[in-house]
Amino acid sequence: MTPATATPTETPAQTEKRIIVADTLGYCWGVRRAVDIISASAEEKGPVAPIGDIIHNPQIVERLRGKGVVGAASVDEALEQGFRRVAITAHGMGPHLAQQASAASLELIDTTCPLVIKVQKLAEKLVRQGYYIVVYGDAYHPEVKSVLGWANTSKSVAAKHIEDLPWNAARGQEGPGKITPPRKVALVSQTTKNIDELMPFANALQSMVVPNGGEFRFCNTICEPTTERQNALKKLVEEDHVDVILAIGGVKSSNTARLAEVGNKMGVRSYHIERPEDINDDWLDGVRLVGVTAGASTPDDVIEDVVATLVTKGYAAPEGGIHPVDPDYVPSY
Ligand code: SF4
Repeated sequence: MTPATATPTETPAQTEKRIIVADTLGYCWGVRRAVDIISASAEEKGPVAPIGDIIHNPQIVERLRGKGVVGAASVDEALEQGFRRVAITAHGMGPHLAQQASAASLELIDTTCPLVIKVQKLAEKLVRQGYYIVVYGDAYHPEVKSVLGWANTSKSVAAKHIEDLPWNAARGQEGPGKITPPRKVALVSQTTKNIDELMPFANALQSMVVPNGGEFRFCNTICEPTTERQNALKKLVEEDHVDVILAIGGVKSSNTARLAEVGNKMGVRSYHIERPEDINDDWLDGVRLVGVTAGASTPDDVIEDVVATLVTKGYAAPEGGIHPVDPDYVPSY
């Protein structure tokens, strides 16, 4: 491809092919913390089996395997594989896991993100206060299951759409087939959800609960690192005006898929890639500004590899490289 030439009204910087890295991307605080805890524990005391996926990133899974960190589907499976130590991942688990580990005399390492613990404790408290708990999120996701596990009540549900709720009418509406909510309903969210989708859900639920003396409590528990990632993505589109977005993350990483989905919804062609080899040159045809973002389980070196590959394709590296991590950062919660 021939380099673009500046017109009289454009400076070279305005025509240069460039990489723009999102202000916040990659490992979130909670995942970085969990990987650090489990790595240090394995180095100090030997093999450990996280129950479930510690991280949706194949490169990191391999690296951890080299240190003796090998995932198991359950405590029983970890036992069968000869592990004496199991771990809870950053997503958290219900209280049953600690009980199972204790019954099997296994040491338990808890890497649950403190921001997930906050939601678990909140759900417990809301149940004590008599609320029916709605968890906005994916019913299959370990974090959502863990929040429901700590809520420990039949008066709870995971839902992503109003149709997922066990009610089909607003309080006070009576008639055949009408099922209305109880008087007190509280809503919390999976920490990684999108506020632009959570708000319409919250408003619709509120309008079902509040009539006829109902009480609705809405706790926005989307975590600060997630909010920062969503805002950084919006900035790539709205302020940096990138032509294409590459969202880097393991193929199983739903939050990476989500970043690409949001980019596409905002009108910028966005691709979910796992590694530099996944970049298709056709995507870059005629493209001047490439935006780079990455999911919460993508390590810095994979992001750097993608940036280096784009440099070989004629794009200027971002000034200052990818953004350094502040070791003292602790999100608000
Ligand atoms: S996405 Fe938020 S809540 Fe989840 S692990 Fe990361 S920092 Fe914690």
